[in-house]
This record gives sequence, structure tokens and C-alpha cells, in this order.
Amino acid sequence: MAERACQRCKYISYDKKCPICDSETSSDWSGLIVVTDPDNSKLAEELNITMPGRYALKVNK
Ligand SMILES: [Zn+2]
Repeated sequence: MAERACQRCKYISYDKKCPICDSETSSDWSGLIVVTDPDNSKLAEELNITMPGRYALKVNK
């Protein structure tokens, strides 16, 4: 099964709805960043990421 990325927060999961923000996910995404410690990550801050996890850089609808 293909991984999917949330259209709003870009969190990557296998679900049709994002487990974090409940928005729809898309199987058409690119780029990948892994956030392990969002409180101490400048990148996470820039991307408004507050939960550890894997995120797409770009998500198409
Ligand atoms: Zn989301």
C-alpha cells in the first residue's frame, strides 16, 4: 500500500484521513523529512510541525 501525505500538515501515514489533523491525505507527494524533536528543530518550526513523525515537503491534491 502506498504511503499518503496530509494535504494540510503534510504528515505521512497510510490513512485516508490524517491521524493528526483529520484532513484528507493524498498519495501524490514528494520530498520527505523526518522530525524527531520538533521543539528543538528550526525546520520543524518553519514548517509548523509540532508532532514527531515523517512529513512530505510537497503534497499535490
Ligand atoms: Zn494532517
